[in-house]
Amino acid sequence: MYVANVVVVGGGVIGLSASWRLAAAGHAVTLVDPEPARGGASWLAGGMLAPVTEGWPGEEDVLELGVASLASWPAFAAELGIALPTTGTVVAAVDAADAAALDILAGHLATLGRQVRRLSGRELRAVEPTIGPSVRSGLMVPDDLFVDNRELLRALLSAARGAGVVEVREPVRAVAAGAVTRTDGRTIDCDVAVLAAGAWSAALHPALRSLVRPVKGEILRLRGRPGALPPPARTVRALVESRSVYLVPRADGGLVLGATQYEAGFDTDVTVGGVRDLLADAERVLPGIAEYALVESAAGPRAGSRDNLPLIGWLEPGVLAATGHHRNGLLLAPITAAAVLAAVAGDPVPAAARAADPARLTDGVHR
Ligand SMILES: Cc1cc2nc3c(=O)[nH]c(=O)nc-3n(C[C@H](O)[C@H](O)[C@H](O)COP(=O)(O)OP(=O)(O)OC[C@H]3O[C@@H](n4cnc5c(N)ncnc54)[C@H](O)[C@@H]3O)c2cc1C
Repeated sequence: MYVANVVVVGGGVIGLSASWRLAAAGHAVTLVDPEPARGGASWLAGGMLAPVTEGWPGEEDVLELGVASLASWPAFAAELGIALPTTGTVVAAVDAADAAALDILAGHLATLGRQVRRLSGRELRAVEPTIGPSVRSGLMVPDDLFVDNRELLRALLSAARGAGVVEVREPVRAVAAGAVTRTDGRTIDCDVAVLAAGAWSAALHPALRSLVRPVKGEILRLRGRPGALPPPARTVRALVESRSVYLVPRADGGLVLGATQYEAGFDTDVTVGGVRDLLADAERVLPGIAEYALVESAAGPRAGSRDNLPLIGWLEPGVLAATGHHRNGLLLAPITAAAVLAAVAGDPVPAAARAADPARLTDGVHR
């Protein structure tokens, strides 16, 4: 077997998954990140694995990629020893325009053969009794799942270490064929560099400069308190007067509540308006959260791309991109890791991942 000397830059969910899979396959892997498993969007994320409810007309490649990755999730979670609840997702609509938007989404998904069921407000409350009276209709999406992102990151870091990944806790300044340069000027030689630094990737290789941008997201974490209503069993997504909000349950009785989306560069301030809107919208959907404790508020950058597909593939010989996962990096971790492993081995990448080849945006200039 060909054994490559691989340096993975970035230890979020994507870099950790790729490092783990590469090392487990026998490659020599060095992971370079000043704060692996904690430094990026993966630590903040809600944890939805939701290709169907993230589906949007015109983004069929994104849906196909997400569905393919979701199919790998049960085995991925089992190998890592983490829980993967199978209760699914419901979507709630508050006003008439929200209900009309759900109709469009349901119709679009039905034409693509996805499993979705329209529910009245009453039917929705029969499924999730803590949903409030202002919700007028809903959608049941059994295939969209969720994980605890922090449990996932801890498991991935441990699996990567167990597979022999070497960690270098330093930031990188530049990635080029044959070597990665740290900010202290030292270089690490490699056969393949995998660029997986999320929203920070654009600064590390010239081909990504105009292709990846930060998209700010704010997110809140709530803890149940004695006497408060229990959290829902499923992810509850909602449209509230055309704003979207989601609540993802945690095994400890908590909830993750997200998420705003702003073009605000690397701004990580949590704004008063953002928190106000998230809490007000979430309370319309699940009034019981008023009794929960607000234990964390945070903001971080997603790695946006021009077409909402990630960039997974060669930027030039010796430099692989695994970035631009925008709202779906947790969902897409298994298929991204599989594609990186295949590319390093010279094998064909999974069919659904071909659409994510960066050449679609670079015209192959940097290949
Ligand atoms: C609020 C919010 C909610 C989200 N919710 C969901 C969700 O429910 N489901 C879902 O699938 N996705 C969700 N996402 C998106 C998801 O979090 C990202 O797509 C995913 O985390 C990207 O993973 P990554 O490993 O590419 O990047 P990151 O997790 O951002 O990791 C990048 C890593 O690179 C490191 N790094 C940065 N600069 C350097 C450097 N110069 N040198 C070395 N290392 C460096 C950082 O320390 C970090 O560890 C959400 C994102 C946000 C912000």
